[in-house]
Amino acid sequence: MADFDYDLFVIGGGSGGVRAARVAAGETGAKVAIAEESRYGGTCVIRGCVPKKLMVFASSYGGLVDEGREYGWDIGEATFDWGQFKPKLEAELDRLEGVYQRLLDGSGVERFDQRAKLADAHTVELADGTRKTAKHILVATGGHPVRPDLENADLGIVSDDIFHLDTLPKSILIIGGGYIACEFAGVMAGLGVKTTQYYRGAQILRGFDDEARGLIAEEMRAGGIDLHCGTDILEMSKADGGIRVKATNGTEEVFEQVLFATGRKPNSDDMGLEDLGVKLGRNGAIEVDEYSQTAVPSVYAIGDVTDRVNLTPVAIREGMAFVETVFKGNPTSPDHDLIPTAVFTQPEFGTVGLSEEAARDQEPIEVYVTSFKPMQSSFAGRSNRVMMKLIVSQESRKVLGCHIVAPQAGEMIQMAGIAVKMGATKEDFDRTVAVHPTMAEEIVTMRNPTRKS
Ligand code: NDP
Repeated sequence: MADFDYDLFVIGGGSGGVRAARVAAGETGAKVAIAEESRYGGTCVIRGCVPKKLMVFASSYGGLVDEGREYGWDIGEATFDWGQFKPKLEAELDRLEGVYQRLLDGSGVERFDQRAKLADAHTVELADGTRKTAKHILVATGGHPVRPDLENADLGIVSDDIFHLDTLPKSILIIGGGYIACEFAGVMAGLGVKTTQYYRGAQILRGFDDEARGLIAEEMRAGGIDLHCGTDILEMSKADGGIRVKATNGTEEVFEQVLFATGRKPNSDDMGLEDLGVKLGRNGAIEVDEYSQTAVPSVYAIGDVTDRVNLTPVAIREGMAFVETVFKGNPTSPDHDLIPTAVFTQPEFGTVGLSEEAARDQEPIEVYVTSFKPMQSSFAGRSNRVMMKLIVSQESRKVLGCHIVAPQAGEMIQMAGIAVKMGATKEDFDRTVAVHPTMAEEIVTMRNPTRKS
C-alpha cells in the first residue's frame, strides 16, 4: 500500500471541514491536515450566521426601547452607533476564529493557512507550491455570494461586505427575496437605514409555506421595509450620493448602497476537480453519492460546495457522517429529511417539514392555523401578528409540517422539530399540556382544522 503524508487532507476550514478534521484526528487517531485560504470558521462564523445574528440582535433593540417606554420605562432618545458596534463585532469574530484554530490544534490537526487545490486523486497542492499526499481528500470549500449578470453590478455590495461597511448607509436597496435578502432587510430597517427591497417573483421566500410568506411580507412592510415584489433592477449607475437604479416598475431612484442577495455559488472553480474526474453539476456543485463520495473514490465533498442543503448544521452532519463512514468503518448517510430551519426576519420564521402547498400535492391533509397579536407587543400598543400552523396527514395523523412566524420562532422550531422528526401525530400535540402564558402554547391548543384539502 502506498505511503501517504496524511490519512486525511481537508480543504476548507468552515463549519463542515473543521468538524470533520478534528473528529477524524481526535476520535480515530487519523493523521489529518487542513488548508484554509481565508479565515477559520468559514462563512458561518466569519461572514454569515454569527455576525448576521449579532446584527439581528443589534437591530432589535430600537423596537424594544420603544416597547419599554410603553411598559413604563423612562428612556431618553435611543440612537444606534455603528462605530461602537463594529469593533466589538470584529473582536468577537476574532475570538471565535481563535477558538476554531485552537480546536484544530488541540486535536492534532496540522494547519496550512493557504489555498489548496487537487493535483491528483491523492495529492493536494498548496498555494506556495508544496505538495502533500493523503489517502482521502475532503473538499469543504463552501460557496460565495453572486451578483446578477448586470452592467455595473460591482457598484453594489454582497453579504460578505456588509460586515465591513465603514459607516451605515442612509438608504439601501436590497435585491432578492431569499433568506439573506429578507434577513438583511430587517437588520437594516431595524438599525434605522431607509430600506427598500426588490424581489423579482410574486412573493418573498419562494419554496416556503405561502401563508407564512404572506405574513412575513406584511410584517416586514409594517416594520418599515419598502418591499416591492414583482420588481427587479434594470440598470444601475454611479450618481451623486450613491447609485442610481432603474427598476422594472418604472421607478428611478438613488440609493446610498445596493446589496445583491441574489444567491450563492459553490467554490469549486480552479480546484483541479474536473481534470481529476470529479463531476460538477448545476451551478458548479460537486456531485456526490449518499456518503458524500465524488466520482473519484479517494475524494469526498461536504457542505455548500455540494449544494445539497446549504445550512451550517447540515454541513457539520455531513462531515460527521463522512468520518463515521471512512474512518470508523460504519457507512452512514447524512439525513436530509425534516430539517428544521429558521429565517431571521423580524418576526422570525421557524419551519420544519412540508409547506401546505407541498403537502396538499402529496396527500389529503388537515391544516390548523392560528394568527394572533402576541401579549408582549400588544400591551405596548403594537398591532403585529404572529402565526402558528400545523399541516397534518388525514390518513396517518402525522404532523407533516410546522410553521411558526413569531419572535423567537427559531428557538421554538428547534423543539417542535424533535416531535415532527419523531413522527408525532396531531393527537400527540393535543395531549401535550400548554405552557401558559406563552406564544408557543398555541401550537398544542388548536382543536379544529381551519381547512381540509
Ligand atoms: P437564495 O437562493 O435563498 O435566494 C436568492 C434570491 O435571489 C431569490 O429570491 C432569487 O429569486 C433571487 N435571485 C437570484 N438570481 C437573481 C437575479 N439574477 N436577479 C434578481 N434576483 C435574483 O439565496 P440566499 O443568498 O438568500 O441564501 C443562500 C442560502 O444560504 C440559503 O438558501 C440558505 O440555504 C442559506 N442561508 C441560511 C440562513 C439561515 O439558516 N438563517 C441565512 C442565510 C443563508 P427566485 O426566488 O426568483 O429564484
